[in-house]
Amino acid sequence: MNIKFADLHLHTNFSDGTYTPEELVLRALKANLSCISLTDHDTTEGLERAMAEGKRNGLEVLPGIEISAQHGSAEVHILGYLIDYRSDLFLNKLQELKRIRIERIYKIVEKLNGLGLRLNADDVFALSNGAVAGRLHVARAMVGKGLVNSIFDDFDKYIGDSGPAYELGFRFTPQEAIDFIITSGGIPVLAHPYIFHNDELVIDFIKSGLKGLEVYYPEHSQGEVNYYLSLAKEYNLLVTGGSDCHGAGKSKERIGSIKVPYYLVERMKQEKERSG
Ligand code: AMP
Ligand code: FE
Ligand code: FE
Ligand code: ZN
Repeated sequence: MNIKFADLHLHTNFSDGTYTPEELVLRALKANLSCISLTDHDTTEGLERAMAEGKRNGLEVLPGIEISAQHGSAEVHILGYLIDYRSDLFLNKLQELKRIRIERIYKIVEKLNGLGLRLNADDVFALSNGAVAGRLHVARAMVGKGLVNSIFDDFDKYIGDSGPAYELGFRFTPQEAIDFIITSGGIPVLAHPYIFHNDELVIDFIKSGLKGLEVYYPEHSQGEVNYYLSLAKEYNLLVTGGSDCHGAGKSKERIGSIKVPYYLVERMKQEKERSG
């Protein structure tokens, strides 16, 4: 029997991962995956290259994205699968998101400066190098300058979600991110739901129109997996999963550490057919 597996949450150097799209595909093959989805933060710029490399090597690459939104003081990540990534409406909005993220880096750097840390926004942009800029680039720049011992140290002390240099500043509410993905022909899925430690909030997001939950995720305990599976059943949602690999840029390289059976991908495609 030949069972196929997928890893549906991966980043490249078009956002805050370190692999190029081609490297990502080759590493996916090495991890014995048959299918991946590239889900960079707020961009699909790496997609065409990943798909082309996938085609050359017999790996299916599904279009994906991870959209950042904010709810109160919380950062919320909504995955969008099988989006019509060539649509002008979609691409124009992503340009705006990219610009807003640049402004956000300036604000984060300003807060860090206020804490007495000597860092320039250009130190961060030298690292992000045209990619969608985020906190992981800030952290790498600070490690490079010896301002912190590690990226985790940086998140703990300064730029983590409740840190003194944290800045929200995203364009969308979760509802708007979900609507944006649906308008773009995609399937909105709540990324790493454990992060909220708040079951009611997850249910609120489901009621905003999510079509799936990222049940399988490296940080999810067996209890959380069971709970999110039961929620998916109750609300008739798709189940997805992925490793959230950022290459060598964050802890260990984790591509393929989560492998979901391919029938979950087939269900996602059926949903796209049904709603398209
Ligand atoms: P941003 O989109 O700029 O808010 O950055 C979000 C990214 O930062 C996530 O996708 C992770 O890659 C990384 N991140 C968030 N929190 C942490 C943390 N506590 N430790 C390490 N990386 C983190
Ligand atoms: Fe990230
Ligand atoms: Fe995320
Ligand atoms: Zn991610």
